Amino acid sequence: MDIHEYQAKEILAKFGVEVPPGALAYSPEQATYRARELGGERWVVKAQVHAGGRGKAGGVKVCDSDAEIQETCEQLFGRNLVTHQTDAEGKGIYRVYVEGAVPIEREFYLGFVLDRQTQRVMIVASGEGGTEIEDISANSPDSIVRAIVEPAVGLQDFQCRQIAFKLGIDPSLTQHVVRTMQGCYRAFREHDATMVEINPMVVTSDKRVLALDAKMTFDDNALFRHPQISELRDKSQEDPRESRAADSGLSYVGLDGNIGCIVNGAGLAMATMDTIKLAGGEPANFLDIGGGATPDRVAKAFRLVMSDKNVQAVLVNIFAGINRCDWVAEGVVQALKEVRVDVPVIVRLAGTNVEEGQKILAKSGLPIIRANTLMEAAERAVGAWQNDLSQNTVVRAAQ
Ligand code: ADP
Ligand code: MG
Repeated sequence: MDIHEYQAKEILAKFGVEVPPGALAYSPEQATYRARELGGERWVVKAQVHAGGRGKAGGVKVCDSDAEIQETCEQLFGRNLVTHQTDAEGKGIYRVYVEGAVPIEREFYLGFVLDRQTQRVMIVASGEGGTEIEDISANSPDSIVRAIVEPAVGLQDFQCRQIAFKLGIDPSLTQHVVRTMQGCYRAFREHDATMVEINPMVVTSDKRVLALDAKMTFDDNALFRHPQISELRDKSQEDPRESRAADSGLSYVGLDGNIGCIVNGAGLAMATMDTIKLAGGEPANFLDIGGGATPDRVAKAFRLVMSDKNVQAVLVNIFAGINRCDWVAEGVVQALKEVRVDVPVIVRLAGTNVEEGQKILAKSGLPIIRANTLMEAAERAVGAWQNDLSQNTVVRAAQ
């Protein structure tokens, strides 16, 4: 789960990371009022959306007066911000953060990520701050400094000092950098984050070390331990299909093709999508019904997949271990009776209770296309999608 910049800053500030004074606003009027409250002569108005690259997309503006804040906000509120991290539709702007503008001397990149290879928290830093990490690693990979945190002892001050030294930060500021890094690490650990990114962390001309931007991502599977973090969820920033799926305990990922995929397990989802592509098709989405799916859950999954207008065929691919093929089959039958499914449905079942599952499908009398192997299922799905509707009806009626 992602949160907004202002929320991440609030969390990090509690862990000793220094941030500029700022306040949230839900309307242009409130933004000017907030700026007056903050005081000073220069502010930065920042669109709060769950995406980076806002600066380049016009979502971060320096303002010198009330009128300018008002005008900037009028342009931002209600609009969708399209950045290189969003899709073509962008993300809606419903909140802005007004922050005191600070005199920047140097910008750094500072990130904490979960490194799967070493199974450790990794610090990634660079003197090329302000630029996205993808660009830094493409254009100046040598500027990137990395360090691994040993979980048994946690992040050590000497590691932070070493990074500060490698980044060429003024030695008089080393202690501030150590505090910033330690704060980020503790916030990461204590909230089960998977990413904390400060880009840029800046040294100001009056020699302060500040986090000017902050991003935090949390492990969805650990959110039950952090109700105060779960509360920060902003559904306006999520794909509505994905949030509806999450609300039903399913995990849904929207894609651009035409074949809807209902599978169990992320690994099988990957294999299913690869096989669809191999057969010449494109997946529209994948929906993971997880282990122990009941007929109800399968029916819910169908409803979700069918709510995507691009779906022209549905491929159900289940390899049942904990799951039971008969339950999945019952779910498919229930769904086809309850939900309007006017596209071909291809079902491949394998594993626990597969014979019972096949029987349920066969007995239902519904136009379900059955397949025994994944390749066969993918080919049939692609074939059914490519055929025109009248041919599909013939194919389906013949089953
Ligand atoms: P994004 O990464 O989404 O583009 P940032 O918060 O990083 O958004 O802002 C973009 C740039 O705007 C920063 O790299 C920094 O140069 C500048 N900036 C952001 N906040 C401030 C601030 N409070 N004072 C001065 N400059 C700022
Ligand atoms: Mg940034």
